[in-house]
Amino acid sequence: MDACNAYYYGTRDPFGARGDFTTAPEVSQMFGEMVGAALADCWMRAGAPADAIYAELGPGRGTLAADALRVLRSAGFAGQVHLVETSPVLRDAQKEAVTGAIWHESIDDIPLQPLLLVGNEFLDALPIQQWVGAAERRVLVAAGGLAFDRDGDVTETSPAREQAVGAIASRLAAKGGVALFIDYGHARSAPGDTLQAVSSHGYSPVLADPGEQDLTSHVDFEAVARAATGAGTVASALVSQGEWLNALGIGARAAALAAANSDRADELAAQVQRLTGRDQMGELFKVMAIRSPAWPELAGLR
Ligand code: SAH
Repeated sequence: MDACNAYYYGTRDPFGARGDFTTAPEVSQMFGEMVGAALADCWMRAGAPADAIYAELGPGRGTLAADALRVLRSAGFAGQVHLVETSPVLRDAQKEAVTGAIWHESIDDIPLQPLLLVGNEFLDALPIQQWVGAAERRVLVAAGGLAFDRDGDVTETSPAREQAVGAIASRLAAKGGVALFIDYGHARSAPGDTLQAVSSHGYSPVLADPGEQDLTSHVDFEAVARAATGAGTVASALVSQGEWLNALGIGARAAALAAANSDRADELAAQVQRLTGRDQMGELFKVMAIRSPAWPELAGLR
């Protein structure tokens, strides 16, 4: 999964109608603006520390960073921008979207300063392990392609994900700040095979075309919260993306944009529906923040 995704993201821009899938920031500028507003509010209530930095994990085309930073800058945030991205192709796209950013290969290279961090659809792309009972389910090279070595009732773990969350949490605990994770997943650890492959906006067999399709799995937010609290941070409640965006006032933002662009009113309403609708991205995607105990809670996550 690690090798496949490294090749997949390293060799293309997979987003949008002509790509394989569309993420929330690519649906509407309002998504990144809500993220920026929540971070700006939290930063201001923390006393607006001047050494705080904006950081993002897996920023895709840089759209979320650009939209969030527009709001953060207008709130007086003047801190540096640090982007963790392994794909050279996507780094190039991010350079177009975000000026003055600093790129890193790994979370460990982010400077030790107070953090305003975001990861949207980042954790779901990190590799998982699958288990059938106590035995790890492995992938074999078989006649005609790849095959699993066993079937049965599958459970999943993701040491890579827990390590990533733990590394962020240690920094938050040491230096202050808040990290926001948005992904599809579940609130409680539960058995089940959630590995999936997406290509051209549809599901495909997970072992087909290695490196040519997006591999993800559902994020176990109970494990995320455990990794976060284990490293000395406070994990928020898990709230659906729809509930969170509505609580932050995406409806008011859409109304303001529509008032200034009357020809775009229908388009804006459709974007809000796509981001918040229960049958669209609103319920499947979940939001969790982790924060230093010294920092205030992020808005909308009670
Ligand atoms: N956040 C963006 C993109 C999500 S896709 C959006 O919402 O549009 C996943 C992103 O994570 C891509 O930018 C991909 O290149 C990056 N990525 C995947 N695995 C990574 C890893 N191990 N380290 C750093 N970035 C990674």
